[in-house]
Amino acid sequence: MNSEVTIIGGGLGGLMLARVLHVHGIAATVYEAEASPDARSQGGLLDIHEYNGQLALKAAGLYDEFRALIQAEAESQYVLDKDANVLLYQADKGNGGRPEVPRGELRRILLESLPAGTVRWGHKTTEVSSLSDGRHMVTFANGANESTVTTNLLVGADGAWSKVRPLLTDEKPAYAGTSFIETFLYDSETRHKASADAVGFGTMMALAPGKGIMAHREGCDTLHAYVALNKPEEWLAGIDFSDRASTLARVAAEFDGWAPQLTALLTATETDPLLRPIYSLPIEQTWARVPGVTLIGDAAHLMSPFAGEGANLALYDGAELAKAIAAHPGDMEAALTAYEQEMFPRSASAAAEADRNMKLFFNDKAPQSVVDLFTSYQPVQ
Ligand SMILES: Cc1cc2nc3c(=O)[nH]c(=O)nc-3n(C[C@H](O)[C@H](O)[C@H](O)COP(=O)(O)OP(=O)(O)OC[C@H]3O[C@@H](n4cnc5c(N)ncnc54)[C@H](O)[C@@H]3O)c2cc1C
Repeated sequence: MNSEVTIIGGGLGGLMLARVLHVHGIAATVYEAEASPDARSQGGLLDIHEYNGQLALKAAGLYDEFRALIQAEAESQYVLDKDANVLLYQADKGNGGRPEVPRGELRRILLESLPAGTVRWGHKTTEVSSLSDGRHMVTFANGANESTVTTNLLVGADGAWSKVRPLLTDEKPAYAGTSFIETFLYDSETRHKASADAVGFGTMMALAPGKGIMAHREGCDTLHAYVALNKPEEWLAGIDFSDRASTLARVAAEFDGWAPQLTALLTATETDPLLRPIYSLPIEQTWARVPGVTLIGDAAHLMSPFAGEGANLALYDGAELAKAIAAHPGDMEAALTAYEQEMFPRSASAAAEADRNMKLFFNDKAPQSVVDLFTSYQPVQ
């Protein structure tokens, strides 16, 4: 099969690219490894920024649908110390600069905006290769079958462990030194009241040097927590995460002496604790232009989540690449050059911010370092 635009990965970046191309009358096909839209829970709330994620949603013609998803009060933030003393509270002023929406719902409105058949589910890319004429061939495993497609433009929107990235660069994600353990507590107002009060209706960050417990209130009543530890990968490898009881005991020991309403966000989890090590690519990630292929989102510039920019950049990259393709009919290389020239510096600046913030979250002055960060916020140039 021959195809004009082939997008690998149906996350926020890949779907946004397909949607904005569609708005401009350009067809694309998205190949997604997951078997269906509901194959995996899509995670928690994302704050969508006025200067990138929201601009992409406007370019997609989905801004009103996005605004209907905003969760009230979710922009409020608490910074606590380990004894649950409140060091900083910032209310949700409702002025919409960084409103929070559920990631799964955002993905749903993008999916529903695409022509039927745009996304080919259950197509896991196993191999990509360059042909001599600037086109690429992609091989998919779909169940027991294998299929291939040849394409004029191949876009890797396939996240942290991109199969497309090696066509452009040898860089691989490196462990950033911090890992999250993800937990959920349901019906929190009735069953976990003390923790619900500590979290409030938005985000709570309880921090100390080298560790922290962070949580969001989601929907009406779910507490979604990330317990963070600065530990080497070898230390984490010593925990059997399939053994719930020993995992909780081992991680809780690191929070000995913390306020019980905070540690309960770990120990009272109603889901099995899930390890999420944080990886990143180099801050100044670039590559020389290779005809017929590019990357967007995490595939291009994986960074730690401490600037809250990854999903926003994925949306923005998708929209900007689509606009560049539409603005350069018949000259794909000019479109890719224009897109990459702007993408490299904007992702480097967000990656530098994420790196700075991650250090401030867990340095020797935490949590005061984070109070200072939020009260005099300066973006990294
Ligand atoms: C704990 C945590 C919290 C975060 N919080 C925030 C936040 O608050 N705000 C924010 O902006 N960002 C946040 N991020 C970052 C954000 O999740 C990512 O930057 C964003 O999801 C990137 O989108 P993407 O479309 O590039 O990639 P992804 O969302 O990773 O999507 C990639 C898609 O490609 C598919 N795929 C992968 N491999 C293949 C293959 N071989 N073949 C076919 N398909 C494939 C995957 O199944 C997936 O659907 C957070 C990240 C983490 C880990």
